[in-house]
Amino acid sequence: MTFDILVVGAGIAGVCTAYWLKDAGQKVLLLDKKGPLAGASGAAGAFLSPRLGRGGPLQRITNDAYRFALDFYDQKTPDAFFQKGLVRLPKNAQDAEKFAAYEPHIDVPYHKVTADDFPHISPDALEWGGFFFPDAAFVDPMGVAKRLTEGIATAWGVEARPEYREGLWHVGKHRAKNLVLATGAASLPVALPWLAIGGVWGERVDVQSRAEIPVTLHQKLSVSANVDGIVRIGATHVRNDSRSEIERVNQLIVDAIGLVPALSDQRLVRIYAGHRASVADHLPVVGQVPDISAFDARRAPPKRLKPEDPAIAKIPGLYLVNGFGGRGFVFGPLMGKIAAETILEKNRPDLAISPDRFLLRHLRRR
Ligand SMILES: Cc1cc2nc3c(=O)[nH]c(=O)nc-3n(C[C@H](O)[C@H](O)[C@H](O)COP(=O)(O)OP(=O)(O)OC[C@H]3O[C@@H](n4cnc5c(N)ncnc54)[C@H](O)[C@@H]3O)c2cc1C
Repeated sequence: MTFDILVVGAGIAGVCTAYWLKDAGQKVLLLDKKGPLAGASGAAGAFLSPRLGRGGPLQRITNDAYRFALDFYDQKTPDAFFQKGLVRLPKNAQDAEKFAAYEPHIDVPYHKVTADDFPHISPDALEWGGFFFPDAAFVDPMGVAKRLTEGIATAWGVEARPEYREGLWHVGKHRAKNLVLATGAASLPVALPWLAIGGVWGERVDVQSRAEIPVTLHQKLSVSANVDGIVRIGATHVRNDSRSEIERVNQLIVDAIGLVPALSDQRLVRIYAGHRASVADHLPVVGQVPDISAFDARRAPPKRLKPEDPAIAKIPGLYLVNGFGGRGFVFGPLMGKIAAETILEKNRPDLAISPDRFLLRHLRRR
């Protein structure tokens, strides 16, 4: 069957991209080798939190996406959106110094935390103060995906091995002029050797508890506000960790009780685990895929050549939406919109998120 666009990967990246394409009147097919949210997106705590930093591009782009995401989920998926606010606490004295340096650059509503504001949090955890972000929220991933994919054609259980023939991308019996790769940490189904997408493993645990937890808390792990007796506990930083999953989950629960002592009545409901995609600069990778074959193999590209320069040839109809790191639900709505507008030639990605940056780095290093 022929579509305008095939979107490969039904995580939050593919779902949001398909949503905006359909919203613009395109005939879209969203396909996944397993099903909706089968990758990192189904495991995520799906917290929407701002980025702290010293005001560089990563913070600017993340917090633009954060503000956009809050409005987006509130309007489009209100039943799956929980705006409870977020307390962000430093892990130790050294981290507290970083927080102090970040404060002049905070570009979203916040106030400083005092011990009296949050009596459910252990006084030890509040030792170094912190910030409260009243707008922060979390979403129910499946609720979001169900609502956003309404009216979009889907194909599950299809492992895409796309081929380009006669001006069209083919995936099995489906074809379209445009193909979006939103495949997360899985290996890319089209060979792009200049793009290294790594994966970071993480776990989320849902527990049942009667603890009164009015706001979400983030220190070295995240503990959500209690909604209908369920609290989400999550962390995604597992690198070179030799512990078993059960040991890590136990530790997550112990650490969560350390932060919120009333959670000691918890009963484990479900464990989620996933591999989230990340790239070297931690920025999303959104835009049309550049064509390496258009470059002279013996020469590095000129220094003045910047991402999205018209001199960089692109592969016809091939787009990437990836590299969302630990903030897929923050990036999804805005990056999906930018991807859709790029495909429809109504926008160009910010240079900082363009896939071209990795091609240029690769060519300059070889
Ligand atoms: C434990 C954990 C907690 C997290 N917590 C948060 C959080 O609190 N807030 C937040 O914003 N983010 C969080 N994240 C990060 C977030 O989950 C990711 O950034 C986001 O899910 C990435 O979405 P994606 O669509 O790019 O990838 P994925 O969700 O991994 O989706 C990729 C999809 O592509 C499919 N696929 C791959 N290859 C093919 C192929 N060849 N053919 C067909 N289908 C294919 C896969 O089956 C999968 O469904 C967390 C991640 C983890 C693991």
